[in-house]
Amino acid sequence: MVKDILVIGTGISGLTFAIKTAQKNPEVSIVLIAKADLSEGNTRYAQGGIAVVSNFKIDSYQKHIDDTLIAGDGSCDPEVVKFVVEEGHERLQELIGWGTQFDTQDNLLHLAKEGGHSEKRIVHYKDSTGQQIQDALIAKIRTFPNIRLLENHSLVDLITDHHTKTNFKRCYGAYVISKAQEEIIKISAKITVLSTGGAGNLYAHTTNPEIATGDGLGAAYRAKVYMEGLPYVQFHPTALLPKIDGHTFLITEAVRGAGGLLRNAEGDRFMPKYDSRAELAPRDIVARAIEREIQQSKVKHVFLDGSPIPIEKWETRFPSVFDTCASIGIHLPKDYIPIVPAAHYFCGGIKVDHHGASRLKGLYAIGECSATGLHGANRLASNSLLESLVYSHRAALAALEELQQKLPDDAFYEQIPEWMGDPYTSSEKISEIDTLRKKLQSVMTEKVGIFKDNMGLEEADQVMAGIYDAVITLYNNNKLTLALSELRNMVSIAHLLIKQAKLLKVNKGVFYNQDNVS
Ligand SMILES: Cc1cc2nc3c(=O)[nH]c(=O)nc-3n(C[C@H](O)[C@H](O)[C@H](O)COP(=O)(O)OP(=O)(O)OC[C@H]3O[C@@H](n4cnc5c(N)ncnc54)[C@H](O)[C@@H]3O)c2cc1C
Repeated sequence: MVKDILVIGTGISGLTFAIKTAQKNPEVSIVLIAKADLSEGNTRYAQGGIAVVSNFKIDSYQKHIDDTLIAGDGSCDPEVVKFVVEEGHERLQELIGWGTQFDTQDNLLHLAKEGGHSEKRIVHYKDSTGQQIQDALIAKIRTFPNIRLLENHSLVDLITDHHTKTNFKRCYGAYVISKAQEEIIKISAKITVLSTGGAGNLYAHTTNPEIATGDGLGAAYRAKVYMEGLPYVQFHPTALLPKIDGHTFLITEAVRGAGGLLRNAEGDRFMPKYDSRAELAPRDIVARAIEREIQQSKVKHVFLDGSPIPIEKWETRFPSVFDTCASIGIHLPKDYIPIVPAAHYFCGGIKVDHHGASRLKGLYAIGECSATGLHGANRLASNSLLESLVYSHRAALAALEELQQKLPDDAFYEQIPEWMGDPYTSSEKISEIDTLRKKLQSVMTEKVGIFKDNMGLEEADQVMAGIYDAVITLYNNNKLTLALSELRNMVSIAHLLIKQAKLLKVNKGVFYNQDNVS
């Protein structure tokens, strides 16, 4: 299959990019692939909303810029922060124009407040904003005849000069594996876009769905694409314990914005002793405080006390949280909610320019898999959906322009070789994969979690080297499966994350190595 553009990932960034591109040039042929169905990905689970300055009577771009820079702890790119904040309003209007609904009050967007924001500026749809956006974008994408949608197909490797034996220093599409037959097909494309989301499953507790295994990052790593900031993994302070159907359910930050309080096992409110902003301090501070309280207690969680929020507000503003808690016998607002921090968001990723272009020509990265410079060492709540919207727009314009430039001709793309892989001896189900995956997650959680130290990083590095060797042996001797492909990506990214973490000698934002504290 030869296409103008291959988009890998159908969350807010991939779908927005494809809609924009198809709208601006209906002649361009686009294929979009999703690892599961079109709707599965981090976007769908976003509860809080999108941070966009909307009430100019009390809020301003400058205030949002300042809040973002403060959260990023001196590591944001100020130019990026400025244009992302300033372009957000227009991008939001487009999203609304495509059918996305947001809550309103007196005909104005209802604005919520979240940790680290100095004003109310989070536009939302109840507490299921992501689902609302995802549904609207999927409905819109289906209206374009020049877009082909391929569900249940997973990226294996990017096609580069290594495969074509050329020296154009470009990306030429990707090899992808089908879920049903586990067959590898080639999709050649003049432009390839990674919008594959995060890698929360490197950790035992994550708010991300199971498919978030960092596949785009893993493929970029093997293609030698530059990545930065991987150790800046944001842990969301308030994930519900226990898991429900194997999935960690998030309690949106907006619950604390609406008055929810954090209490330790003794029932004492503890945040004021850690930070003057108390429950509304940035996530890294709240997550570390919770982790400390857990370490000092015999109980492996703390509580979110929702009693300051009236029941009517729970039912109308936070219906998903209300119903989910009720389903496991927690009746709001009177019952305390047991919560733990969980791996939530990768602030780093594939380094891109102001238009989402990576350092490999023909390859763009947008959304959570990219490192734009917006988040620095810590993402401000609800800035990631905003970043996805702004960069999808910018990348769409840049990609269309690049298609007009002199690129290898069509015959070249048609002759790209099929997947060669390595010769293998066994196509039995590989039983070690699950064991190795759990071992990786457990080491990442214990040694590379909220609190790190030099010895722990060293130990994690060694364990990861062992897992990597085991994975390569499996890869060389067995038919490539989806599960093996995921594990190969996870171990590569874990290795790179640890390597980068060992080099960080100053704690910033979400990164905290106890040996860096003098
Ligand atoms: C529980 C939760 C709540 C959140 N709440 C908020 C919030 O309120 N506000 C906010 O701004 N942010 C929030 N975030 C973060 C935000 O949702 C994500 O950063 C954002 O949605 C990422 O969008 P994306 O398009 O980059 O990726 P995703 O939405 O994660 O989509 C990734 C896509 O890539 C595809 N994919 C992955 N691997 C492969 C592969 N190997 N082959 C093919 N396709 C692949 C998937 O199928 C999927 O289509 C939240 C995240 C979570 C998990």
